[in-house]
Amino acid sequence: SGGLVAYSESQTDVSNTSVEINAKDCKKRRVVVLGTGWAGISFLKDVDVSAYDVQVISPRNYFAFTPLLPSVTCGTVEARSIVEPVRNIIKKRNGEIKFFEAECIKIDAANKKILCRSTFDNNLVGNEEFSLEYDYLVIAVGAQVNTFNTPGVVENCHFLKEVEDAQKIRRSVIDCFEKAVLPGLSEEEQRINLHFVIVGGGPTGVEFAAELHDYVQEDLVNLYPTVKDLVKITVIQSGDHILNMFDERISSFAEQKFSRDGIEVQTGCRVISVSDKEITMKLKSKEEICSIPHGLVVWSTGVETRPVVKDFMGQIGQGSRRVLATDEWLRVKGCADVYALGDCATINQRKVMEDIAAIFKAADKDNSGALTVKEFQDVVDDILERYPQVEHYLKSKHLSDVTDLLKDPEGNARDEVDIGGFKLALSHVDSQMKNLPATAQVAAQQGAYLSKCFNHRQQCEDNPEGPRRFKGSGRHQFHPFRYKHLGQFAPLGGEQTAAELPGDWVSIGHSTQWLWYSVYASKQVSWRTRVLVVSDWTRRFIFGRDSSR
Ligand code: FAD
Ligand code: MG
Ligand code: MG
Ligand code: MG
Ligand code: MG
Repeated sequence: SGGLVAYSESQTDVSNTSVEINAKDCKKRRVVVLGTGWAGISFLKDVDVSAYDVQVISPRNYFAFTPLLPSVTCGTVEARSIVEPVRNIIKKRNGEIKFFEAECIKIDAANKKILCRSTFDNNLVGNEEFSLEYDYLVIAVGAQVNTFNTPGVVENCHFLKEVEDAQKIRRSVIDCFEKAVLPGLSEEEQRINLHFVIVGGGPTGVEFAAELHDYVQEDLVNLYPTVKDLVKITVIQSGDHILNMFDERISSFAEQKFSRDGIEVQTGCRVISVSDKEITMKLKSKEEICSIPHGLVVWSTGVETRPVVKDFMGQIGQGSRRVLATDEWLRVKGCADVYALGDCATINQRKVMEDIAAIFKAADKDNSGALTVKEFQDVVDDILERYPQVEHYLKSKHLSDVTDLLKDPEGNARDEVDIGGFKLALSHVDSQMKNLPATAQVAAQQGAYLSKCFNHRQQCEDNPEGPRRFKGSGRHQFHPFRYKHLGQFAPLGGEQTAAELPGDWVSIGHSTQWLWYSVYASKQVSWRTRVLVVSDWTRRFIFGRDSSR
């Protein structure tokens, strides 16, 4: 059969080995997944392994529960407790997924191939480089730390992105204390060694600052009593407030709590260079440059596209963009059969105004040239699904009913509108378009969504019009990805957490900390890590943190 030929052609390296191929496998299309982070793993947990031949490439053979990384920096939670081996996850999928510990170094979109390099540099063991062919490629490689090309950052700063980073910070914090208590240091030298600087006032930087403060106050002051009053923690933020992506109430609560705790927050400051001894910055308001000595710097200012993705973007005509763009079905723009999700990509949401004529035409069932409220109501659900900004707009204007959009400028209901009136009614909705944040929540939801698309592919191909009636901008096969925001936590130390919950709820305090414990315990990928994390927390409550190096 044709399927068999296609299969054997793809197996270029096995010519002298006899391979048993069963009839079912021949028809399986090859899916190659890059990355075992939030997006990749959530795709793998659900994709139908009986329908696809799935291969996974990642330089790390584990999944890391990143929200607990800041806790690893101070030993509140052990590194081992927040990682789950990829092979454990594969085992749960009947072992039908193949995993290769390697890094994808090139995507060859024209030939539907990827080039990989194994992370082992021992060429006695086998191939250092190999290539894989795919029918479908799922890019879920995440992003890398953005240094904004600031001189000295790579050499002199810690990052907080990977498990190794967190472990390194943990050792370095202790080193700073041990150095400070060596004989013969002046008080000034001790102060410098114990000055911890965090660049970036986003969720990660703030959580690390809070965690470090607790660690110092609860454990280290007792172990290093001679220097306990010399410790200083500084957070440097380029904007006017820390946690500015959160609700104002949370960001000002965080600032007040930090000021009570003695954590210094320097806003409106841009770091221009970092050396092993000093950090140099520019005060935005005064155009003034100042340098402060430090013992340790953690750089946490956001992420940028990885080189392998940048190179791929160049191949497919996205070279001028900053982030890889997909449509709402997570299909990479300009490249068939390639999908991208999580931190490495962004959804290029369609504008209502681009499609307004098509929307009007589809809604105006009787071709009368005018849209009645009834006609509008019939397609409203489809519009809301296709264009999430409409819902954000209604919320921002406190409109409870979409048909309120069709009211005239004085607020009176109209029976019908023509295309001009329709355009006017929707003319501001696109202002409410937002990019989804680079969070685990988005990545995991996208992975789960994409596996559903894959699992329903046959059904979609049989019925290309998809489940929806309305097709404002061309055909689609499955409902577009919709993000469901389930809230976000900002742990602030001292057993206090702030949370932004759905429906504009803000909750701050000790009870929220318990919510945080329970949500993070329940979100663990396996019972194994859940038990480990909870016992780490318990151990810390009873014995404090382990401060050995
Ligand atoms: P990642 O999880 O980064 O996974 C990328 C994967 O690709 C990794 O397995 C990596 O090894 C692999 N990879 C990299 N390069 C290659 C290559 N060339 N070839 C093949 N594989 C490759 N989000 C929240 O929602 N809540 C939080 O509380 C939260 N806290 C965070 C705390 C910290 C300290 C950090 C760093 C992040 C936090 N995030 C949080 C953000 C969240 O971790 C990311 O948004 C999420 O990890 C994105 O998932 P991803 O799968 O796109 O990328
Ligand atoms: Mg991933
Ligand atoms: Mg991850
Ligand atoms: Mg993204
Ligand atoms: Mg009509």
